[in-house]
Amino acid sequence: MNIDEKEKSIEENISKLFNYDFLILKHSFLIDRLVNILYIELSKYDFDIEIDLKGKLKTYDINERYKFVKDFYKKHNIDFDIDKIFTDGTIELINIDTKKESFQYAEPNLSGSHRFVDEKSVININNTGYMFDSVTLAHEISHHRNQTIEVNEINDLFTETLALTEATIMGKEVLTNDEYQFYLIKKFRAYYMYCYNNHLHYDFIALYKEKGSINYENYCSLFGKISKKDYYDKLENIVKSYEKVDLFGCARYTIAGLFVPYLINKYEENNLFFDTIEKLHVIINSDDISNILMSIGLVNSDNNFLNQENINILLDNLNLFLSREMKKGVVK
Ligand SMILES: [Zn+2]
Repeated sequence: MNIDEKEKSIEENISKLFNYDFLILKHSFLIDRLVNILYIELSKYDFDIEIDLKGKLKTYDINERYKFVKDFYKKHNIDFDIDKIFTDGTIELINIDTKKESFQYAEPNLSGSHRFVDEKSVININNTGYMFDSVTLAHEISHHRNQTIEVNEINDLFTETLALTEATIMGKEVLTNDEYQFYLIKKFRAYYMYCYNNHLHYDFIALYKEKGSINYENYCSLFGKISKKDYYDKLENIVKSYEKVDLFGCARYTIAGLFVPYLINKYEENNLFFDTIEKLHVIINSDDISNILMSIGLVNSDNNFLNQENINILLDNLNLFLSREMKKGVVK
């Protein structure tokens, strides 16, 4: 592909997105800025450290694992009937049999899902038997508590933040220190990889949206002058990496990467802040991002949307969180 063809191919891919009224396009300039800010900040850290948990993991039966979540909810005064979702079929276990001979050690798996099947809310969690299953369950129940079958754009952007905040607070309480380090590394590596794989794509979406076409002059006028070679490298990287793109995942994880540390630090400063976190289950279903920012004390008036000062507060909290919670060796 020559330069023109690459530019055309990128435009075509982006204009396909414009056929849908997706939140990403609506907020593309803000998300682009946040993705790049988080990408640069997390590049200072090394999240490739392996934490070997072989032989160190305890297993629990399903009732024990479920009781850890119940106890967490009780401790933090979360008014939610967990018994009900266990008996009404909301929770489906994915069976990974740790007892099989060929499975002497099942890889700890932190993935789970929450989705709607025939208008019914369904949670999938792993059945490895490890404590991670409980933490994942708390994460997915968090989604279940605030997501509705009707798509809400603001919820879509912030539901991951809430789920990860609650699960990380629980993780610190119930996981061993090694397990907690494993959990944090996996999550921060995920935040970083989303930014790594998507930041250029967001730049070019913002470019196309702002300028109407993709070319070198438009790029420089929006983002500042770069060399032609650097520009061509960006085009090349984009056309080579379409299959790694997950714009929605990236938007959610970027918001989470920036807001989860802030929320947890606030909670660590004063445990009463947990109530503020819980109120987000309702607030993220409103239609105004500034309501969220005000409710968590990040901005103090509704004319004030994420300016550089707010972003610096989020970044300070990110670095504070990582230096406090992560084992040494993560800083590059
Ligand atoms: Zn989630």
